This record gives sequence, C-alpha cells and structure tokens, in this order.
Amino acid sequence: MKKSIMVFLILFYIIIPAQVLAKKEIPILVYHFIDEYKGIGSKELYVTPESFEEQVRYLRDQGYTLLTFEQWEDIHKVEKPIFITFDDGYKNNLNAYEIYQKLQTPYFKPRGTIFVISDFIGWANRLSEEEMKMLSDSGLISIQSHTATHPDLTKLEVLENELADSKAKIQAITKKPVIALAYPYGNFNSKIVEETKKYYKFGLTTTPTLYKETGLKDELYLLPRIYVKYSTTLDEFAGLLKK
Ligand SMILES: [Zn+2]
Repeated sequence: MKKSIMVFLILFYIIIPAQVLAKKEIPILVYHFIDEYKGIGSKELYVTPESFEEQVRYLRDQGYTLLTFEQWEDIHKVEKPIFITFDDGYKNNLNAYEIYQKLQTPYFKPRGTIFVISDFIGWANRLSEEEMKMLSDSGLISIQSHTATHPDLTKLEVLENELADSKAKIQAITKKPVIALAYPYGNFNSKIVEETKKYYKFGLTTTPTLYKETGLKDELYLLPRIYVKYSTTLDEFAGLLKK
C-alpha cells in the first residue's frame, strides 16, 4: 500500500510538472518611451510613468517574476515568469528604473532589458554610457543590443558591423556579456537568424504572441514580443499576459 502511494507520488512529481511546463506561455513585453506624451512622434509608442507603475504593481500583486535573458533557465523554476523589454535606449527609460526601485521589495525584484542602438548612445534623448553602466550595475536592468544603427537587417548585405560591433561596444561599457539582439522593426529572415547565432543566444522579434517552448530549432532566435501601448488599459494589460 505504502509502496503504491510512493510510486504514485514519484510519478506525480515527475510527470505532472513536465506537462504543466510544456503548456507554460510566457509574456515578453516591449515598451519604447516611458514618459508623458508631449505631442511629438507616435503616441502609441509611449506609456506614461503612471501606467507603467500600475502595470508593474499589477505584476507584483499577481506574483509574476520579472526576468532578464541571463536568467532564461529560470522560466522552468518560477511559476509566473515574464520579460519586460524596452527598445531603442531612450533616456526616459530612467523613469522605468525609478519605478522599479520604488516597487522593489525583499520579495519582488523588478527586472528589465533595454535594447540600445549602439551608435546612438549619448545622443540627447538616448541613454549615455554612464547611465547604461549605472543601470547595468543596479542588477535590475540588463543592457542588450538593438544593432549599431537600427537598419532593416533584411535589406543589408553585410551584417557584421550591426551585430558584432554593437555587441562589442555595449560590452565595453557595461563590462557584462551581451547575449540578446532585438531585430529592428522586428524584421528578420533565415540569413539574419544564422548570422545572429554567431554572436547572440537570443533574437527578439515583434511577433505579437506569448512565448511557448516548442523545442523547435531556432526558437530562441524567434522570440515573440507583445507591445504595450499608450492606450493599453490595465484590464487590457492583464489580458495581454494570457493572450
Ligand atoms: Zn527599434
């Protein structure tokens, strides 16, 4: 009797979590500006600091674990993993960092990944080298690559400058490995995936779905991401996580 219970328990712990894990769908969100919209540029690329704070607070309340790509293996260890990413390296991403600091508790470490365009570092509206280093050293923000000049990679013959040089430049600033690339405009093809593999462990698209592990070749270079927009309400935000 006892033996059969033991066998049952062993099978339960081996088989059931494997099934649960196989079905796990992971949101990878993408933001651009974390700022008030002041009438310049595309409004939907903005999320106000108030909305962003409300969204991160919601993730905290709902028991999500915010991860960066260095922690990829943790998707199997935590119950509700999520990745927050920011494209283009805008200076106003410092607002997100401030909100992270404010919402941090001993039990909740808000993390995120900023994909910077390496040739734009230090421009008036972009993060400076010092800011990148400070964010990276905080342990809350990982700085990764969004290429050197933000071209449509599918239109380029030679990709080395965009992929290798941007990685080297960012690593020289943060002194940490750059392992992830966000494709500009989310555009990619098989040649770009092959080139990206030479320098990075992850490639991020803007295919708007949740990530679900399939075991298929190249899936880590085709990671989907869901946009959070200016008009996204908290209810809609909650819906995006389960889409
Ligand atoms: Zn971009």
